[in-house]
Amino acid sequence: MEPQGIRGRVLTNVPMKRYTSMKVGGAVPYLFYPEDEADLGAAIAWLTGMRLPFRLLGNGTNVIVADRGFAAGLIRMSRMRRLRIETTETGALVTAAAGLPLKSLIRSCAARGLTGQELLFGIPGTVGGALKMNAGSFGAAISDCLVSLRYMDEKGEARKLMKDELGFAYRSSTISDRQCVIEAAFELKQGDRGRIRADMDYVWQERLRKHPMERPSAGSVFKNGGGGPCWSYIDRAGLRGACVGAACVSDKHPNFIVNMGGATGADVVRLIETVKKRVHDATGVVLEEEVELWGFDDGA
Ligand SMILES: Cc1cc2nc3c(=O)[nH]c(=O)nc-3n(C[C@H](O)[C@H](O)[C@H](O)COP(=O)(O)OP(=O)(O)OC[C@H]3O[C@@H](n4cnc5c(N)ncnc54)[C@H](O)[C@@H]3O)c2cc1C
Repeated sequence: MEPQGIRGRVLTNVPMKRYTSMKVGGAVPYLFYPEDEADLGAAIAWLTGMRLPFRLLGNGTNVIVADRGFAAGLIRMSRMRRLRIETTETGALVTAAAGLPLKSLIRSCAARGLTGQELLFGIPGTVGGALKMNAGSFGAAISDCLVSLRYMDEKGEARKLMKDELGFAYRSSTISDRQCVIEAAFELKQGDRGRIRADMDYVWQERLRKHPMERPSAGSVFKNGGGGPCWSYIDRAGLRGACVGAACVSDKHPNFIVNMGGATGADVVRLIETVKKRVHDATGVVLEEEVELWGFDDGA
């Protein structure tokens, strides 16, 4: 059925392998690109009326989708990417729409000499996806400079939450699958433009040096925790380079699973299960996924 009353673009029967960085996954029935907040409300209302669950899709860089797809309407905020920068005594209050790529946010702030987010440079997600995951790198996290955010709930009502209401922890938040982040306000300090640029260059070079950027992946598969980085446990279990089908543990960074070409969602998930079991057998460590698995059970 064709969605009614939506101004933004709506795609139907959408193969998720085209919309995720791992390049696996079957189709979802609908993908919405709301033009603005009212349109977002209309998309949520239409899906609710159809009794279809909705999920938010950012850049799809932290999700692995099942080959059979799943029954849900995805909402992608990429048309909502406004950035507002208001100068304050110490720096600026920066309000970024959820669909803005993190890289664009950081570049814009760096150009004005605003410091606080430059160590996150290179994380390939959007502002919305980064907040949900509390994305971070090089000791910094997206929640560090956050003041508050606005989201839309499943009834289409917009609400505001302050940072301390969002339960931020290592790579997690209490933002639920039914809360759509609309925009977020960050407090950044005035810093030294040259220093900020140098930090961005450094973290980008480190990514190129350590991560298998040349192959499709979803970034780190497992959360670091416990006694050490989990790539070291995966290495100790002898899994560097291990493959299931065309999904392989990266030779370069064993906490990445890369798609060598034509991998399926089932390959990726079987490899994740193998890694978890073999690491547990070899080291006693229980690995926990950082990536989200969509459509592998009956829920979306
Ligand atoms: C090469 C590579 C390197 C990476 N490096 C890092 C790294 O250094 N650190 C790190 O933390 N992560 C890293 N990642 C993982 C990923 O980029 C982050 O988790 C990122 O924050 C995900 O953002 P996204 O927009 O792609 O979200 P998606 O993958 O599209 O979605 C992730 C989650 O956020 C939710 N979501 C998306 N938008 C919204 C919204 N508007 N409102 C509410 N929920 C929303 C989705 O429903 C889903 O639950 C890397 C990934 C790759 C491929």
